[in-house]
Amino acid sequence: MADAVVADIQRASTHDGPGFRTTVFFKGCPLSCAWCHNPECISFEPQILEYPEKCIGCGKCADGCFAGAKVLCGKRMTPAEIAAEVARDKAYYGKDGGVTFSGGEPLAQRDALSECIDECKKLGIRCAVETSLIYYDEEIFKKLDLVMADLKIWDSATHKKYTGVPNERIIENFKKVNSLGVPVIARTPVIPGVEQGIPQISAFLKTLENVKCYELLPYHPLGKSKRQALNMAEDEFSVPSAEFMEELKQYAYIR
Ligand code: SF4
Ligand code: SF4
Repeated sequence: MADAVVADIQRASTHDGPGFRTTVFFKGCPLSCAWCHNPECISFEPQILEYPEKCIGCGKCADGCFAGAKVLCGKRMTPAEIAAEVARDKAYYGKDGGVTFSGGEPLAQRDALSECIDECKKLGIRCAVETSLIYYDEEIFKKLDLVMADLKIWDSATHKKYTGVPNERIIENFKKVNSLGVPVIARTPVIPGVEQGIPQISAFLKTLENVKCYELLPYHPLGKSKRQALNMAEDEFSVPSAEFMEELKQYAYIR
């Protein structure tokens, strides 16, 4: 049995897929998006987030900080432990909800992810992933009820500049997942100031019949304080205006 390194398990989530969901955030991602809203999920190793403004100077750091000034992120859990935590919310999932394995990049811990899906399926829980699609894993994708995948930037050199990797493999993997027949929700985080090629992304996705929906998600500044707490370089991005999102709305679709 493969353990997973988990950053967090969020209950009662309504942002990570349809219905009421539990989201399991796996630690570790091979991308390094300049606007990442979960920067604590980029490293595969456990890390401490530091919020010095919350320190009350009690001097008991060795016992763990109860003031929230030092927060450990990254815990090893077995797939059975993860499934048991997820199952606590099963009564609320209704006909659409379930578990979303997110991150980070959940497929980077593929054996643990695969076992988590098996454990949750045994309990009758619907399973989705949120992925960058940097990996293609037919065995895992075939077990899923839903894949939520990002296509962040159309031009590969620009993609590499902002995420650390080119996008040819991601585009290829969109085509491969499409051919499996699993429903896909595609998404682009909208980052003002970055030439993302959203019209081209939308036109490409429309050629893939299993991409049921294309969503445009405004950049969220959630990562800024976490970057500071991790001593990472600041991100320079800002939230898109309502007018800019309105202009782009024509490229999003549901079918
Ligand atoms: S335990 Fe937390 S509040 Fe106490 S000294 Fe350490 S960091 Fe500060
Ligand atoms: S793919 Fe997601 S988790 Fe990975 S760096 Fe980009 S935004 Fe962060």
